[in-house]
Amino acid sequence: MSTAFITHRDCLRHDVGRGHPERPERLTAIEDQLIASGVEQFLVRHDAPLASDEQLARVHPMEYVRAIREVAPQQGTVHLDPDTAMNAHSLGAALRAAGAAVLATDLVLQGAAANAFCSVRPPGHHACSARSMGFCIFNNVAVAARHAVHAHGLERVAIVDFDVHHGNGTEEIFAHDGQVLMVSTFQHPFYPYSGTEHPAPNMVNVPLAAGAGSKQFREAVTRYWLPALERFAPQLVLFSAGFDAHAEDDMAMLRLVDADYGWVTEQIKAIADRQARGRIVSMLEGGYALSALGRSVVQHIRVLAGVNA
Ligand SMILES: [Zn+2]
Repeated sequence: MSTAFITHRDCLRHDVGRGHPERPERLTAIEDQLIASGVEQFLVRHDAPLASDEQLARVHPMEYVRAIREVAPQQGTVHLDPDTAMNAHSLGAALRAAGAAVLATDLVLQGAAANAFCSVRPPGHHACSARSMGFCIFNNVAVAARHAVHAHGLERVAIVDFDVHHGNGTEEIFAHDGQVLMVSTFQHPFYPYSGTEHPAPNMVNVPLAAGAGSKQFREAVTRYWLPALERFAPQLVLFSAGFDAHAEDDMAMLRLVDADYGWVTEQIKAIADRQARGRIVSMLEGGYALSALGRSVVQHIRVLAGVNA
C-alpha cells in the first residue's frame, strides 16, 4: 500500500504579500526536494477537495465559517488578525487545506492508502474554534480528527505536534475530549505563550527552552510522548507536522536537524504500526527556511513511504 500526497494548486495562490514568511514557495520547495531525493516517485498524488460546511462545523461554529466566507475579498488583501490575512484565493486554499485533511483520513481509514501527507497551506494548528490566529484560518488537523470520529466511528485519535510553536488552537478544541490525545513539543516561552498553564489530562505538552536541539527533543519524545501514546492506543495517528524547529529556521530558536524529523517519524510510525494498523495522516504546519523545510519533509515522508535513504 502506498503513501498518498495531497495538495492543490489553490494552496499556491494564497499569497498575502512580499515579506510574509508563510509563502507559496514553501510548497514548491517541498516538491523540489521530493523530486531531487527520488522519493516523489513512490507517492500517489491526489488533488485536495473543498471541505464542506458539515466537515468544518465539527470543529468551528457555523457563524465563524460564515464570517470567513463573508470577509474573504474578491481582490486585494484583508487582515483577519495581525498575522493572518486573506487574498482572493485564500478562502479556496483554506477550504482545500481542510478538505485535504478529510480526503487523507478517508483514504487511510478506507484502506486505500497506508498513510498520507497533506502539503497544504494555510496551516491550521493555531486556529481556535472561533478565531483565526498565527497564519491559520481553519484547524486542518482538528477537522481530520473529528472526521475520523464522526464519519468513521473511531474512538481514539492521537495528534502529534512537533511544530516549534505550541498548537494552541488544537489544544483549545480538544482539551478534555477523551477521544483525542495530543502530544507536543514547542519552544517556551515563545509565541503563542500557551501550553504550560494547567494543561488538560489529554494534553502531553513538553516545552523546550530556546537553544534546545536533537538531544532534548529526542528525550522529550522518548520520555513523555511514547509512553502516553502506548497507553492511549490510538486507532489513527495525525501529525501536525511543522518544520520550524529546524536549526536553519530563524522563525524560532530550537536546533533540530533534518535527521530528527526522520527519527521522530520512525518512533511514531512504530506505535502506529502496533496500535493503529499503521494509519497515519500528516498535515503540514510551519517551516519557513525553504531548503530545510524541503529536506525535512523528505525525511518525514521517506519514513512514511518506507523508502530507504
Ligand atoms: Zn510554527
